This record gives sequence, C-alpha cells and structure tokens, in this order.
Amino acid sequence: MSVARDWDVVIVGAGPAGLSAALVLGRARRNVLLCDKGTPRNWASRRLHGFVTRDGIDPKEFRTLAYQEIARYEQVKLRLEAVVGASPLAAGAGFTVRFARGSKVRTRKLLLATGVLDHLPPVQGIEERFGVSVFQCPYCHGWEFRDRAVAVYGRGKRGFEMARAMTAWTGDIVLCTDGASHLTRAAQRQLQRNGIELRTARIARLEGRRGQLTQIVFRNGDALPRDALFFDTPSSEQSALSRAIGCEYESDGGVKCGQYSETSVPGVYAAGNITRDVQLAIVAAAEGTKAAFGINRALTREDFALR
Ligand SMILES: Cc1cc2nc3c(=O)[nH]c(=O)nc-3n(C[C@H](O)[C@H](O)[C@H](O)COP(=O)(O)OP(=O)(O)OC[C@H]3O[C@@H](n4cnc5c(N)ncnc54)[C@H](O)[C@@H]3O)c2cc1C
Repeated sequence: MSVARDWDVVIVGAGPAGLSAALVLGRARRNVLLCDKGTPRNWASRRLHGFVTRDGIDPKEFRTLAYQEIARYEQVKLRLEAVVGASPLAAGAGFTVRFARGSKVRTRKLLLATGVLDHLPPVQGIEERFGVSVFQCPYCHGWEFRDRAVAVYGRGKRGFEMARAMTAWTGDIVLCTDGASHLTRAAQRQLQRNGIELRTARIARLEGRRGQLTQIVFRNGDALPRDALFFDTPSSEQSALSRAIGCEYESDGGVKCGQYSETSVPGVYAAGNITRDVQLAIVAAAEGTKAAFGINRALTREDFALR
C-alpha cells in the first residue's frame, strides 16, 4: 500500500498527554495527526479531580473541551482509529505509521502517549463499582472519602503502601489481603500502631447498589461495612508500539526518556502514564507539553540547518 500523506508529527493517544501535545504543536504551526482508539485509562470514572480549573469535571467533558480548543488550530487533525504499527524510514527520514483499517501515513516525528490500563483485582462486583466507589488512586478520589470507612485491597508491599497512603485521608482503614498478607511482622506492627486493621480472609464479593460499595462479604460469611475500596495492583501499557519500535525501558517499567521526552529511538517521543512518572492527568498533560516542546525544537533545528 502506498504512503498516503505526510505529517510533521503523529501523536498516538489522545488522553491528557496527547491532547496537550497536540495543542502546543498546533500553536507551533505543525501539521499534526492525533490518533485515538477510544480506551482512556479513566474509562470508568465520572469525575476528574485535581486538574486545576477543572477539578471535578466529567472526563468526557474534559475531552470535548480539549477537542474544541484543538479544533482552533487547523493543522491538527483528529483520527479515531487504532495505530497498529510504526517503523522507521531510511536514516532520519521519519516513520511510517500503520492504522487498524490498513492505511498508512508518513511522519517526521512520532509521539507515543498511549497510556496504561489497570488490572482490576479478581473480586466479584468490582468492575461495576470501579470509578464510583472503587479506585486505584487516593490523590484522585481520596478527598471524597475523607474520614469515611475505607478498605484497601493489596498484598505485601503494595497493600502496605496503599494503606499507609490512605492515612492522609481517613483514620478508618481496613487492609484486605484476600489471602496470605505477605507482610513482615514489623509491617504488621506498624499497621496496628496506626490503627489499620488487617484482614486476610478471602473475599467472596462486593455489595451495594448503583456502583456504591456498602459492604465486603468474605468467603467465611463475615461482612465488613465500607464506603470505598482503594486497590494497588499492577497496570500494563495499552499499546505494544513502544516495545515494537525498540524503545528502552527504565527498571520501574516506564519508557526511558532523555531531555524533552525523546526515547532511546531517535525521533520517537513518549509522554503520559507510559513513562511511569506520577500517574495524574495534569502530570500527563505537562509531559505532553514537554514532549511537544522537544519535538518542535528538534523540527525547527533540523529545518534551520538545511537552509
Ligand atoms: C478510575 C480512574 C479515575 C481517575 N481519576 C483521576 C483523577 O480524578 N485525577 C487525575 O489526575 N487522574 C485520574 N486518573 C488517572 C488518569 O486517568 C491518568 O493519569 C491519565 O488518563 C493519563 O493520561 P495519558 O494521556 O497518559 O493516558 P490515557 O488518558 O489513558 O490516554 C491514552 C489514550 O491512548 C489511546 N491509545 C492507546 N493505544 C493506542 C493505539 N495503538 N492507537 C490509538 N490510540 C491508542 C487510548 O485510546 C487512550 O485514549 C484516574 C484513573 C482511573 C483509572
């Protein structure tokens, strides 16, 4: 198939990172193709908190506002289709980007802002409560449950650290490990000293109406009244693109970036949750802005040198 069109930048992922990058690159008069397949990390969430001037906004409205702002810059186009591959052209000439329906485009620079998705704990009743009364981030939704009865789900270091983090928001915390806790005696004593109850019983299900959690029911028949559950389980990259194109990774699983967000593959940049920095929307947006700065700086310097 022939190459369809040239772009200065193809951005893969229109979450806060990709959207911010598109805005800044549009304002820098770049031809930008912003691509998205419609699976944001916060798909289940009804409120986005902690984004200054937008605290509490519906994430769908956040995206609509961003699209409206970006639409002011005619050189930025939005394409709602998955990118399935990207490969470098001859040395320094950019990349070919392939789409799910088979077409291809060519771009000088590539920004990966493809995000991550959370592994929900394998507990009956969790998915329908995710984003309403079950969360993975206390900075996002801890305030709404301040001084209330909260459960933390997680084993070993992950469960311990989430329980410790929650003490900033409430003093009523039960750490549920859903089986062996994998906690040292010292860690268990620390939890106890901080008033955090430890429950190792296996969980049967979560209960409550319309997404609200009212109680956790254990397999032994016990029931624990709770208003919310915060979990700490792993998350995975949404897209295999960064690995396929050869990006190196940090030991924490983040795509390795140099100054201004360029990855180990020249011309490929990364922003947002895939770098594994602080996993908040405004941080992802700032990373997108930083990558846009790096990309525009590189393009300008390349063009300047050719004249
Ligand atoms: C339930 C929940 C609630 C949250 N609440 C808050 C909150 O209140 N405040 C806060 O700051 N943060 C919150 N977060 C975290 C926030 O969602 C993330 O920090 C933020 O979305 C990261 O932005 P991003 O641009 O890196 O990735 P994302 O927002 O996940 O966007 C990545 C985009 O890339 C697209 N994509 C992936 N692969 C491809 C591909 N191959 N082709 C095309 N498109 C692709 C996806 O469709 C997706 O739209 C919450 C997260 C969850 C799970």
